[in-house]
Amino acid sequence: MTTGVLARDHGITSAAAVLRTVLAHGPLARDAIAELTGISPAGISRQCASLAALGLLATRPAAQPPDRRAGRPRTELDIAADRHVVFGVHIAHHFATLAALDLRGRVLASEQVPHPGGEPERILVGTAARLREFRQHHQKGRVPVGLGVASGGWVDPDAGVLVEHSSLGWYDVPAGPILAELSGLPTRVDGHARALASAEAMFGAARGGGSLVHLFVGNVVDAAIVSGGRLYRGPGSAAGTVAHLPLGSPGTRCACGRSGCFEADAAEWAVTARAGRASIAEAVEAAGAGDPVALDVLLGRARTIGRAAALLFDVVNPEVLVVAEPGIADLPACRAAVRAEVSARSRGRVDAASRVLPTSFPGRDLLGVAAGAVQLDALYTDPHAFLA
Ligand SMILES: [Zn+2]
Repeated sequence: MTTGVLARDHGITSAAAVLRTVLAHGPLARDAIAELTGISPAGISRQCASLAALGLLATRPAAQPPDRRAGRPRTELDIAADRHVVFGVHIAHHFATLAALDLRGRVLASEQVPHPGGEPERILVGTAARLREFRQHHQKGRVPVGLGVASGGWVDPDAGVLVEHSSLGWYDVPAGPILAELSGLPTRVDGHARALASAEAMFGAARGGGSLVHLFVGNVVDAAIVSGGRLYRGPGSAAGTVAHLPLGSPGTRCACGRSGCFEADAAEWAVTARAGRASIAEAVEAAGAGDPVALDVLLGRARTIGRAAALLFDVVNPEVLVVAEPGIADLPACRAAVRAEVSARSRGRVDAASRVLPTSFPGRDLLGVAAGAVQLDALYTDPHAFLA
Protein backbone atom coordinates (compact mmCIF):
# COMPACT_ATOMS: atom_id res chain seq x y z
CA MET A 1 0.00 0.00 0.00
CA THR A 2 1.19 3.53 -0.75
CA THR A 3 2.20 5.39 2.37
CA GLY A 4 1.49 9.10 2.21
CA VAL A 5 3.90 11.82 3.25
CA LEU A 6 1.66 12.90 6.10
CA ALA A 7 1.16 9.33 7.29
CA ARG A 8 4.85 8.37 7.00
CA ASP A 9 6.06 11.45 8.83
CA HIS A 10 3.57 11.47 11.64
CA GLY A 11 2.82 7.87 12.55
CA ILE A 12 -0.82 7.89 11.49
CA THR A 13 -2.36 5.50 8.95
CA SER A 14 -2.97 6.47 5.30
CA ALA A 15 -6.70 6.39 6.01
CA ALA A 16 -6.17 8.84 8.87
CA ALA A 17 -4.03 11.08 6.63
CA VAL A 18 -6.92 11.22 4.12
CA LEU A 19 -9.47 11.86 6.85
CA ARG A 20 -7.40 14.59 8.54
CA THR A 21 -6.74 16.29 5.20
CA VAL A 22 -10.46 16.39 4.40
CA LEU A 23 -11.17 17.59 7.95
CA ALA A 24 -8.69 20.46 7.61
CA HIS A 25 -9.34 21.49 3.98
CA GLY A 26 -12.55 19.80 2.83
CA PRO A 27 -14.68 19.48 0.88
CA LEU A 28 -11.99 18.29 -1.56
CA ALA A 29 -11.82 16.48 -4.89
CA ARG A 30 -9.82 13.20 -4.94
CA ASP A 31 -6.92 14.70 -6.92
CA ALA A 32 -6.56 17.50 -4.34
CA ILE A 33 -6.46 14.92 -1.52
CA ALA A 34 -3.77 12.99 -3.43
CA GLU A 35 -1.70 16.14 -3.82
CA LEU A 36 -2.00 17.18 -0.18
CA THR A 37 -1.27 13.73 1.30
CA GLY A 38 1.31 12.46 -1.22
CA ILE A 39 -0.73 9.26 -1.63
CA SER A 40 -1.20 7.93 -5.20
CA PRO A 41 -4.56 8.56 -6.96
CA ALA A 42 -5.30 4.81 -6.89
CA GLY A 43 -4.56 4.73 -3.15
CA ILE A 44 -6.81 7.75 -2.60
CA SER A 45 -9.70 6.10 -4.46
CA ARG A 46 -9.30 2.98 -2.32
CA GLN A 47 -9.10 4.95 0.95
CA CYS A 48 -12.04 7.18 0.07
CA ALA A 49 -14.20 4.16 -0.79
CA SER A 50 -13.39 2.42 2.48
CA LEU A 51 -13.88 5.59 4.57
CA ALA A 52 -17.21 6.21 2.84
CA ALA A 53 -18.20 2.60 3.62
CA LEU A 54 -17.45 3.30 7.30
CA GLY A 55 -19.77 6.32 7.09
CA LEU A 56 -16.92 8.76 7.79
CA LEU A 57 -16.72 10.46 4.37
CA ALA A 58 -19.61 11.67 2.23
CA THR A 59 -19.49 12.35 -1.52
CA ARG A 60 -21.23 15.32 -3.02
CA PRO A 61 -21.33 16.95 -6.47
CA ALA A 62 -18.64 19.60 -6.96
CA ALA A 63 -19.35 22.98 -8.54
CA GLN A 64 -18.70 22.50 -12.30
CA PRO A 65 -16.31 24.86 -14.10
CA PRO A 66 -18.31 26.94 -16.65
CA ASP A 67 -16.49 25.53 -19.72
CA ARG A 68 -16.95 21.89 -18.69
CA ARG A 69 -19.59 20.23 -20.90
CA ALA A 70 -18.57 16.58 -21.18
CA GLY A 71 -17.06 13.85 -19.04
CA ARG A 72 -18.00 12.44 -15.68
CA PRO A 73 -19.48 14.93 -13.22
CA ARG A 74 -16.88 15.92 -10.63
CA THR A 75 -17.44 15.00 -7.01
CA GLU A 76 -15.93 16.20 -3.74
CA LEU A 77 -15.50 14.47 -0.41
CA ASP A 78 -16.32 15.88 2.99
CA ILE A 79 -16.51 14.59 6.55
CA ALA A 80 -19.88 12.89 7.07
CA ALA A 81 -20.76 14.96 10.12
CA ASP A 82 -24.40 13.95 10.59
CA ARG A 83 -24.08 10.20 11.00
CA HIS A 84 -22.00 9.63 14.16
CA VAL A 85 -21.90 11.14 17.61
CA VAL A 86 -19.13 11.20 20.23
CA PHE A 87 -19.97 11.67 23.89
CA GLY A 88 -17.72 13.43 26.36
CA VAL A 89 -17.42 13.71 30.14
CA HIS A 90 -15.13 16.39 31.55
CA ILE A 91 -14.47 16.17 35.28
CA ALA A 92 -13.70 19.47 37.01
CA HIS A 93 -13.39 20.67 40.59
CA HIS A 94 -17.07 21.44 41.28
CA PHE A 95 -18.91 19.93 38.31
CA ALA A 96 -18.79 17.49 35.44
CA THR A 97 -19.61 18.55 31.87
CA LEU A 98 -21.48 16.17 29.55
CA ALA A 99 -21.29 16.80 25.82
CA ALA A 100 -22.31 15.34 22.45
CA LEU A 101 -20.08 16.21 19.48
CA ASP A 102 -20.14 15.54 15.76
CA LEU A 103 -17.06 14.40 13.81
CA ARG A 104 -16.08 18.02 13.14
CA GLY A 105 -15.76 18.57 16.89
CA ARG A 106 -18.86 20.75 17.03
CA VAL A 107 -20.78 20.56 20.30
CA LEU A 108 -24.34 19.41 19.54
CA ALA A 109 -25.46 19.53 23.16
CA SER A 110 -23.87 19.98 26.59
CA GLU A 111 -24.90 19.98 30.21
CA GLN A 112 -23.19 20.76 33.51
CA VAL A 113 -23.66 18.35 36.41
CA PRO A 114 -22.62 19.87 39.77
CA HIS A 115 -20.92 17.54 42.25
CA PRO A 116 -19.85 18.08 45.85
CA GLY A 117 -16.33 16.68 45.41
CA GLY A 118 -15.03 13.89 47.63
CA GLU A 119 -15.35 10.16 47.02
CA PRO A 120 -14.57 9.47 43.32
CA GLU A 121 -16.70 6.35 42.76
CA ARG A 122 -19.89 8.05 43.98
CA ILE A 123 -19.30 11.02 41.66
CA LEU A 124 -18.55 8.77 38.67
CA VAL A 125 -21.69 6.65 39.31
CA GLY A 126 -23.80 9.83 39.52
CA THR A 127 -22.23 11.23 36.35
CA ALA A 128 -22.85 7.97 34.44
CA ALA A 129 -26.52 8.04 35.49
CA ARG A 130 -26.88 11.58 34.11
CA LEU A 131 -25.05 10.52 30.95
CA ARG A 132 -27.67 7.80 30.32
CA GLU A 133 -30.43 10.45 30.37
CA PHE A 134 -28.32 12.82 28.29
CA ARG A 135 -27.87 10.11 25.62
CA GLN A 136 -31.62 9.47 25.50
CA HIS A 137 -32.17 13.14 24.65
CA HIS A 138 -29.22 13.86 22.39
CA GLN A 139 -28.19 10.71 20.49
CA LYS A 140 -31.02 11.37 17.99
CA GLY A 141 -30.50 8.34 15.76
CA ARG A 142 -26.76 8.87 15.33
CA VAL A 143 -24.29 6.00 15.80
CA PRO A 144 -22.29 6.52 19.02
CA VAL A 145 -18.55 6.00 18.48
CA GLY A 146 -17.57 6.18 22.13
CA LEU A 147 -17.00 8.23 25.24
CA GLY A 148 -14.08 10.58 25.83
CA VAL A 149 -13.18 11.49 29.39
CA ALA A 150 -10.96 14.46 30.18
CA SER A 151 -9.72 15.89 33.44
CA GLY A 152 -7.01 18.15 34.78
CA GLY A 153 -3.93 16.93 36.57
CA TRP A 154 -1.87 13.84 35.75
CA VAL A 155 -3.74 11.26 33.67
CA ASP A 156 -2.50 7.87 32.43
CA PRO A 157 -4.37 7.36 29.11
CA ASP A 158 -3.16 3.78 28.63
CA ALA A 159 -4.69 2.60 31.91
CA GLY A 160 -7.57 5.12 31.86
CA VAL A 161 -6.50 6.26 35.32
CA LEU A 162 -6.62 9.74 36.87
CA VAL A 163 -3.23 9.42 38.59
CA GLU A 164 -3.33 12.71 40.49
CA HIS A 165 -5.92 15.49 40.59
CA SER A 166 -4.74 17.59 43.50
CA SER A 167 -7.67 20.04 43.75
CA LEU A 168 -10.20 17.14 43.84
CA GLY A 169 -7.90 15.11 46.08
CA TRP A 170 -8.19 12.12 43.69
CA TYR A 171 -5.29 9.68 43.35
CA ASP A 172 -5.13 6.58 41.10
CA VAL A 173 -8.83 6.68 40.19
CA PRO A 174 -9.66 4.19 37.35
CA ALA A 175 -12.22 6.56 35.79
CA GLY A 176 -11.93 4.96 32.32
CA PRO A 177 -12.79 1.37 33.31
CA ILE A 178 -15.56 2.56 35.69
CA LEU A 179 -17.27 4.81 33.11
CA ALA A 180 -16.82 2.21 30.32
CA GLU A 181 -18.65 -0.37 32.41
CA LEU A 182 -21.41 2.00 33.52
CA SER A 183 -22.00 3.57 30.09
CA GLY A 184 -21.44 0.51 27.87
CA LEU A 185 -19.46 2.77 25.50
CA PRO A 186 -15.84 2.34 24.38
CA THR A 187 -14.10 4.83 26.67
CA ARG A 188 -10.79 6.70 26.50
CA VAL A 189 -9.33 9.04 29.10
CA ASP A 190 -6.75 11.79 28.81
CA GLY A 191 -5.62 14.98 30.48
CA HIS A 192 -7.63 17.97 29.31
CA ALA A 193 -4.55 19.97 28.31
CA ARG A 194 -3.58 17.22 25.84
CA ALA A 195 -7.20 16.79 24.77
CA LEU A 196 -7.50 20.51 23.97
CA ALA A 197 -4.17 20.51 22.17
CA SER A 198 -5.34 17.68 19.95
CA ALA A 199 -8.69 19.50 19.43
CA GLU A 200 -6.74 22.58 18.25
CA ALA A 201 -4.75 20.28 15.90
CA MET A 202 -7.94 18.68 14.50
CA PHE A 203 -10.47 21.55 14.49
CA GLY A 204 -8.73 24.75 15.59
CA ALA A 205 -5.67 26.94 15.23
CA ALA A 206 -3.20 24.21 14.15
CA ARG A 207 -5.43 22.12 11.87
CA GLY A 208 -3.78 20.62 8.83
CA GLY A 209 -0.51 19.78 10.59
CA GLY A 210 2.11 21.98 12.16
CA SER A 211 3.31 22.36 15.72
CA LEU A 212 1.53 23.74 18.73
CA VAL A 213 1.93 24.18 22.44
CA HIS A 214 -1.32 24.40 24.36
CA LEU A 215 -1.37 26.04 27.77
CA PHE A 216 -4.42 25.42 29.95
CA VAL A 217 -4.80 27.71 32.96
CA GLY A 218 -7.71 26.90 35.27
CA ASN A 219 -7.62 25.50 38.79
CA VAL A 220 -4.87 23.31 37.40
CA VAL A 221 -2.19 24.50 35.00
CA ASP A 222 -0.99 22.16 32.25
CA ALA A 223 0.81 22.34 28.91
CA ALA A 224 0.62 19.96 25.95
CA ILE A 225 2.77 19.66 22.85
CA VAL A 226 1.64 18.79 19.29
CA SER A 227 4.12 18.17 16.48
CA GLY A 228 3.06 17.36 12.91
CA GLY A 229 -0.55 17.28 14.06
CA ARG A 230 0.16 14.59 16.69
CA LEU A 231 0.50 14.80 20.48
CA TYR A 232 3.89 14.35 22.07
CA ARG A 233 3.37 12.50 25.36
CA GLY A 234 6.80 11.22 26.41
CA PRO A 235 7.42 8.33 28.83
CA GLY A 236 4.55 7.93 31.30
CA SER A 237 2.58 10.61 29.37
CA ALA A 238 4.28 13.12 31.63
CA ALA A 239 5.26 15.74 29.02
CA GLY A 240 3.92 19.24 29.61
CA THR A 241 4.03 19.35 33.41
CA VAL A 242 4.52 23.08 33.92
CA ALA A 243 2.48 23.60 37.12
CA HIS A 244 5.52 23.84 39.37
CA LEU A 245 7.86 25.92 37.23
CA PRO A 246 9.16 28.77 39.42
CA LEU A 247 7.29 31.55 37.58
CA GLY A 248 4.99 32.85 40.33
CA SER A 249 5.56 35.35 43.15
CA PRO A 250 8.38 34.06 45.37
CA GLY A 251 6.24 34.38 48.53
CA THR A 252 3.29 32.26 47.33
CA ARG A 253 3.27 28.83 48.95
CA CYS A 254 2.33 25.84 46.78
CA ALA A 255 0.65 22.59 47.82
CA CYS A 256 3.81 20.79 46.63
CA GLY A 257 5.72 22.28 49.56
CA ARG A 258 7.74 24.83 47.59
CA SER A 259 7.09 28.52 46.97
CA GLY A 260 6.60 30.57 43.81
CA CYS A 261 5.13 27.81 41.63
CA PHE A 262 3.26 28.82 38.43
CA GLU A 263 0.08 26.99 39.48
CA ALA A 264 0.03 28.38 43.03
CA ASP A 265 0.14 31.89 41.56
CA ALA A 266 -2.15 31.46 38.53
CA ALA A 267 -4.76 28.90 39.71
CA GLU A 268 -8.36 30.02 39.29
CA TRP A 269 -9.16 29.78 43.02
CA ALA A 270 -6.18 32.01 43.88
CA VAL A 271 -7.04 34.57 41.18
CA THR A 272 -10.73 34.79 42.10
CA ALA A 273 -9.78 35.22 45.79
CA ARG A 274 -7.35 38.06 44.92
CA ALA A 275 -10.04 39.73 42.78
CA GLY A 276 -12.64 39.32 45.58
CA ARG A 277 -15.03 37.55 43.21
CA ALA A 278 -17.04 34.32 43.45
CA SER A 279 -15.88 32.87 40.13
CA ILE A 280 -13.41 33.53 37.33
CA ALA A 281 -16.33 34.35 34.99
CA GLU A 282 -17.47 37.03 37.45
CA ALA A 283 -13.91 38.44 37.69
CA VAL A 284 -13.60 38.61 33.88
CA GLU A 285 -17.01 40.28 33.59
CA ALA A 286 -16.10 42.84 36.28
CA ALA A 287 -12.74 43.58 34.60
CA GLY A 288 -14.51 44.01 31.26
CA ALA A 289 -16.90 46.48 32.91
CA GLY A 290 -13.96 48.54 34.19
CA ASP A 291 -13.35 47.22 37.73
CA PRO A 292 -9.67 48.14 38.35
CA VAL A 293 -9.00 45.44 40.99
CA ALA A 294 -10.33 42.59 38.83
CA LEU A 295 -8.48 43.90 35.78
CA ASP A 296 -5.21 44.28 37.71
CA VAL A 297 -5.45 40.71 39.03
CA LEU A 298 -6.21 39.28 35.56
CA LEU A 299 -3.38 41.30 33.97
CA GLY A 300 -1.02 39.89 36.62
CA ARG A 301 -2.18 36.38 35.72
CA ALA A 302 -1.69 37.12 32.00
CA ARG A 303 1.89 38.30 32.65
CA THR A 304 2.68 35.12 34.63
CA ILE A 305 1.25 33.08 31.73
CA GLY A 306 3.39 35.18 29.38
CA ARG A 307 6.55 34.23 31.29
CA ALA A 308 5.62 30.55 30.90
CA ALA A 309 4.81 31.07 27.21
CA ALA A 310 8.17 32.77 26.54
CA LEU A 311 9.98 29.84 28.15
CA LEU A 312 7.96 27.32 26.12
CA PHE A 313 8.74 29.20 22.87
CA ASP A 314 12.46 29.02 23.70
CA VAL A 315 12.38 25.30 24.57
CA VAL A 316 9.88 23.91 22.04
CA ASN A 317 9.63 26.66 19.35
CA PRO A 318 6.07 25.77 18.26
CA GLU A 319 4.46 27.51 15.29
CA VAL A 320 1.68 28.66 17.59
CA LEU A 321 1.05 28.69 21.32
CA VAL A 322 -2.63 28.56 22.29
CA VAL A 323 -3.74 29.76 25.72
CA ALA A 324 -7.01 28.57 27.23
CA GLU A 325 -7.70 31.14 29.97
CA PRO A 326 -10.90 33.21 30.26
CA GLY A 327 -9.24 36.65 30.71
CA ILE A 328 -7.07 36.16 27.63
CA ALA A 329 -10.07 34.81 25.68
CA ASP A 330 -12.31 37.79 26.52
CA LEU A 331 -10.18 40.83 27.34
CA PRO A 332 -7.94 42.53 24.73
CA ALA A 333 -5.78 44.02 27.53
CA CYS A 334 -4.96 40.52 28.85
CA ARG A 335 -4.15 39.27 25.33
CA ALA A 336 -1.82 42.27 24.87
CA ALA A 337 -0.18 41.58 28.26
CA VAL A 338 0.61 37.93 27.50
CA ARG A 339 1.97 38.86 24.05
CA ALA A 340 4.09 41.71 25.44
CA GLU A 341 5.66 39.35 27.96
CA VAL A 342 6.48 36.80 25.22
CA SER A 343 8.00 39.47 22.96
CA ALA A 344 10.09 40.88 25.81
CA ARG A 345 11.36 37.57 27.23
CA SER A 346 11.63 34.93 24.50
CA ARG A 347 15.05 34.72 22.84
CA GLY A 348 13.75 33.53 19.46
CA ARG A 349 12.25 36.81 18.13
CA VAL A 350 8.73 35.46 18.36
CA ASP A 351 6.05 37.46 16.52
CA ALA A 352 3.68 37.20 19.46
CA ALA A 353 0.72 38.82 17.67
CA SER A 354 0.51 35.96 15.16
CA ARG A 355 1.89 33.08 17.28
CA VAL A 356 0.21 33.54 20.68
CA LEU A 357 -3.48 32.80 20.25
CA PRO A 358 -6.50 32.49 22.53
CA THR A 359 -8.33 29.15 22.52
CA SER A 360 -10.41 28.29 19.43
CA PHE A 361 -13.14 26.98 21.77
CA PRO A 362 -14.05 29.85 24.13
CA GLY A 363 -16.82 29.76 26.69
CA ARG A 364 -19.04 26.87 27.65
CA ASP A 365 -17.94 24.56 24.82
CA LEU A 366 -14.29 24.32 25.95
CA LEU A 367 -14.63 21.46 28.42
CA GLY A 368 -17.04 19.46 26.24
CA VAL A 369 -14.69 19.79 23.25
CA ALA A 370 -11.79 18.58 25.45
CA ALA A 371 -13.69 15.45 26.49
CA GLY A 372 -14.99 14.59 23.01
CA ALA A 373 -11.57 15.21 21.46
CA VAL A 374 -10.12 12.31 23.49
CA GLN A 375 -12.21 9.89 21.38
CA LEU A 376 -11.98 11.89 18.16
CA ASP A 377 -8.16 11.87 18.34
CA ALA A 378 -8.24 8.05 18.31
CA LEU A 379 -10.68 8.04 15.37
CA TYR A 380 -8.52 10.47 13.38
CA THR A 381 -5.35 8.46 14.14
CA ASP A 382 -6.50 5.04 12.87
CA PRO A 383 -10.15 5.03 11.70
CA HIS A 384 -10.20 1.38 10.61
CA ALA A 385 -8.87 0.07 13.93
CA PHE A 386 -11.14 2.48 15.80
CA LEU A 387 -14.35 1.33 14.12
CA ALA A 388 -13.30 -2.36 13.76
ZN1 LIG B 1 4.50 23.63 43.43
